[in-house]
Amino acid sequence: MVRAEQVHKSYGQLEVLKGIDLEVQPGEVFCLVGPSGSGKSTFLRCINHLEQINAGRLYVDGDLIGYREKNGKLHELKDREVALKRRDIGMVFQRFNLFPHLTALENVMEAPVRVKGEPKQAARERAEARLAQVGLADKGASYPSQLSGGQQQRVAIARALAMEPKLMLFDEPTSALDPELVGDVLDCMRELAEQGMTMIVVTHEMGFAREVGDALVFMDGGVVVESGHPREVLTNPQHERTRAFLSKVL
Ligand code: ATP
Ligand code: MG
Repeated sequence: MVRAEQVHKSYGQLEVLKGIDLEVQPGEVFCLVGPSGSGKSTFLRCINHLEQINAGRLYVDGDLIGYREKNGKLHELKDREVALKRRDIGMVFQRFNLFPHLTALENVMEAPVRVKGEPKQAARERAEARLAQVGLADKGASYPSQLSGGQQQRVAIARALAMEPKLMLFDEPTSALDPELVGDVLDCMRELAEQGMTMIVVTHEMGFAREVGDALVFMDGGVVVESGHPREVLTNPQHERTRAFLSKVL
């Protein structure tokens, strides 16, 4: 579903991604962990076409990110083409980024109506189903300010799902939440995983990684230090840097 081959990304002089190679299989829950500044968010932003990579290749669902390949040559995509591709990828951030002036239901309906031109009534029905899916069937009329952080984050997940993505990216979805609210959001993500969604999850929740993850990559300094099955990496890390990191988060 996602393949990175020697992906490089710099901001000016600062090289943030220094040749990332990895592969995410369809239906997999792929956990990305690493210290602050190691390039995790940058990598997600590259997958979601929010950043252009400087070298290497990045494919989502067989499509080259940011470029079109024609007769063996690469052509940069136009903004409109990028926007079309981005529709297939849902993203959930640490901060919920809901529209404060819209209800939960309106937040979930917004993109299908505005971006896809879906009729309002159909979008409303599907948004209700999405809210039910994340356990918020009774919160459609609430505004974000009337919801807990965990509920807001689940609305954000429902909103991403409303675009029927092929791939969901989560960037530390629970790290802004009070501890007692984390479980509901992780449960919701676990259910999504059980339904077969391909997910890349940046997280410090090692319990989630161990129980739900199919693969885990430890990144540091813009490179993949080690990868494997979460249980393997978490119980038997091969590299000193991985051990040092895990001793801080476990
Ligand atoms: P964290 O765990 O703190 O979220 P991260 O692994 O997600 O860290 P990134 O946000 O990808 O790290 O940042 C990697 C490096 O790139 C950092 O040194 C950061 O300062 C730098 N960086 C990120 N975005 C930009 C930008 N738009 N312009 C310049 N530098 C940036
Ligand atoms: Mg980050």
